[in-house]
Amino acid sequence: MYALVPGPWLFLPPGSTPEKDTATSTDLHHDEQPWLHCRTCGQAIVQQSARVSVNGMHQHVFFNPAGLVFEVGCFENAPGCFCQGQPRTDFTWFPEYAWHFALCTRCGSHLGWRYEKARQGFFGLILTQLTGSE
Ligand SMILES: [Zn+2]
Repeated sequence: MYALVPGPWLFLPPGSTPEKDTATSTDLHHDEQPWLHCRTCGQAIVQQSARVSVNGMHQHVFFNPAGLVFEVGCFENAPGCFCQGQPRTDFTWFPEYAWHFALCTRCGSHLGWRYEKARQGFFGLILTQLTGSE
């Protein structure tokens, strides 16, 4: 299972407490799912409810050609991302899918990739680049 690995970017000012959803509240709208946010700038990127499974799994672990490990979650859409570049089919982790880079709309951080095949598509987002997935 996925375990969030604290990195040097994960720190809080002394005395502050992480924001928590009020699980006791009963008047939450069911369509107001928590969002995952850009770890760099805090922009809302994707709703938890947009998680999808691809090849039977939501979460995938990949190595890129440089040997870096990515933990990638699949989402059907990511309103906080924009796509950059021409679709490419080299080094794709999902056979038959072409990919673009997916970047944060606010700060431009690389958050993952948009995969497309025919008319279908999904976002594969690097979970360590998002906050709120705990
Ligand atoms: Zn950002």
